[in-house]
Amino acid sequence: MPDYPSFDCAHVQFGRKIASLRNREFPKKVKELIKAAVKTEQTVSSFLTKLQSLIGEYMHNTDKILNTKILISNLDTTRYFLQELEAALQHLPDMLISSNQDLNIIKLHYRDVSVTLQRCNSTELPWKVIASDLPNFPIFEGFEKNVTNLSVAKTKFKWQVEVLRKAWEELEEIDENCWVIDPLKPNKSHMYRRIHLSQSLSVTITIDDPLNSIALPVIKFSGSDNEVKRQMDDVSNNIHKWDHDCSILENLKMLLNMYEFPEQESMEEKKDIINNRECGICFSDELPDKICNNEKCMKHFHSACLSKWLQTNTGNQVVFGHIYGTCPYCKEKISCSIEL
Ligand SMILES: [Zn+2]
Ligand SMILES: [Zn+2]
Repeated sequence: MPDYPSFDCAHVQFGRKIASLRNREFPKKVKELIKAAVKTEQTVSSFLTKLQSLIGEYMHNTDKILNTKILISNLDTTRYFLQELEAALQHLPDMLISSNQDLNIIKLHYRDVSVTLQRCNSTELPWKVIASDLPNFPIFEGFEKNVTNLSVAKTKFKWQVEVLRKAWEELEEIDENCWVIDPLKPNKSHMYRRIHLSQSLSVTITIDDPLNSIALPVIKFSGSDNEVKRQMDDVSNNIHKWDHDCSILENLKMLLNMYEFPEQESMEEKKDIINNRECGICFSDELPDKICNNEKCMKHFHSACLSKWLQTNTGNQVVFGHIYGTCPYCKEKISCSIEL
């Protein structure tokens, strides 16, 4: 009370024992009490009596809330869950487990990868995945299935991370040595990389079978017909030389007859190139996969947009699922698949 005996600018500090009262209501009520004391020019002792009964009232309420909480939650379930948690904490010590205050959301963290599980009231599927860094592979689908407790979840999660480690290392090597144009910010769930090769060509590598370490990744070129054809010829000439003891990056260099991959341009140039990459038909900035053969035109298109455009001209020929016509900008010959 800086203006004793007046209650002007008075404030009250509480010790740790009544920390449980620090909800929004209680401090507000105390402030109101002080305001009233200023107004009615109360004595300190009458103020303290009022404060004491206010504290008593809130203590009583808090007890009631705590008691109901304990009654509601089934004690047996809690005991069983604590046993489950204890067991889970015992094995696989290299894995981190964190949880929220209510212990119904658990996050498993292993080698920079995490999965978040929520406890459900179901004996069949007691743990539901609510967030995961892992990619969606068919073999990984239904993580919850057969996860009867947290220990099983941990073992399963560790196995998946170990299976994917080799593939992630391959992709990281590509990130370090190539100009990856998609995804812009690769994370553990992205199992593909689209690599810039030239103004009119890029290649997308997708690992679709992480369980089979000697399987070839899926390789797809995007760009002008001439460039794509030239690279496809290189690939078919070299594919028999694919060496399973070498990394995907090393094998790619061999396949494409390249010594190094083009380095990433400066930010300015990069912006220019990315701006020029919008689809000439729908103008969306989602990376197009088709480029006009005419070096002076080099317009970019999505195959789907180009296919629709070419089909509007009934004079265009369709041969073996390919439609042949002319570029909407420069009239150079252009073709694309209509089976999209
Ligand atoms: Zn488009
Ligand atoms: Zn063109």
